[in-house]
Amino acid sequence: MKKDFTPTLLDFGPLQIYLARHFGFCYGVENAIEIAFRTVEENPDKRIFLLSEMIHNPQVNADLQSHGIQFMQDNYGKQLISFDTLTADDIVIIPAFGTTIELEEKLNKIGIQTEKYDTTCPFVEKVWNRSEQIAKKNYTVIIHGKPKHEETRATFSHAAFYAPAVIVKDMEQAIELAKYIKGEKQPAQFYEEFKGQYSDDFSVTHDLQRIGVVNQTTMLASDTQAIADYLKQVMVEKYKLVTATVEERFADTRDTLCYATLENQQAVSGMLQTDADLAIIIGGYNSSNTSHLVELCEEKLPTYFISSEEKILSANEILHYNFPTKEEILTSDFLQGKKPVRILITSGASCPDALVEGVINKLIDVLNLKISTEQLIEQFH
Ligand code: SF4
Repeated sequence: MKKDFTPTLLDFGPLQIYLARHFGFCYGVENAIEIAFRTVEENPDKRIFLLSEMIHNPQVNADLQSHGIQFMQDNYGKQLISFDTLTADDIVIIPAFGTTIELEEKLNKIGIQTEKYDTTCPFVEKVWNRSEQIAKKNYTVIIHGKPKHEETRATFSHAAFYAPAVIVKDMEQAIELAKYIKGEKQPAQFYEEFKGQYSDDFSVTHDLQRIGVVNQTTMLASDTQAIADYLKQVMVEKYKLVTATVEERFADTRDTLCYATLENQQAVSGMLQTDADLAIIIGGYNSSNTSHLVELCEEKLPTYFISSEEKILSANEILHYNFPTKEEILTSDFLQGKKPVRILITSGASCPDALVEGVINKLIDVLNLKISTEQLIEQFH
């Protein structure tokens, strides 16, 4: 069914907010947080660890830590607590983006039962299942994802268990990979160029003859589609395929993006049809799905990526995250003196809705608008 992605207009007079039709917490994140808190409640006497950050949101992670949960690794796989300190009595929760087969085996060897506290999102598992299906049909699995992201590492590990696998982080890398498929580059170069992104014993000459593309669930839908279409075309030309024979070399793997990523991205496209002056995107700075919402908005209008309302310092200044330098920067006159000012607001799948509400309230506050929550709710009656 065709869904409506028109944003909701919150009209505060001098401040007009276009709120995305879909934003914020997804099923996988809600489920994972619920399991984590239930685990704390049911096991007051046990040490409880999380393999890494539950989700990419600092507020949620701080909340979990304040309940006594300890993180074993940081986002980049750096060990914070040694596995040697674990005993069979401990509980280790697998986060929403899943984990590698190797880590799971390590925990099981210690005697820790991972299945009971596994919060891996079903949409991530769907990608693993899809990888397994095509791997069993002798396709090499190409994963479009961020090579160091926990979910991509987990998907890579599951795919590589059944078949050769390679990670491509973007279209540029897909184009380079295609040069090996077409025989335009020396196979020996591949191992340096894709270091850390291919499975053991990967053979460039043998393992790029039948391929299928899956993705980290939070990538930009249009990017994954473009990469899959491009590699399909490369195979069609190389092996002179026609519609009826494409599957001999290229597996059909559509729809491995999760619904939340897709709907949040489509809702942003809906918001971008409005005449807004700027966009504010709320989420953790290391959140992949949030970063893609920022990218979509940046193409069209000034965009400010903030982690909470505290980053709006006044009606004049905002502290926001800048991807290229990976640091927060201060921008003045971000409301551009517009009256009314029209602002698009959305948040990533790992961002609690309370943060969105906080940002709206802060804007009302810094603009000195006299409107209560009750008056706002009135607009919807
Ligand atoms: S963003 Fe999608 S895949 Fe990731 S936890 Fe949420 S629903 Fe699951």
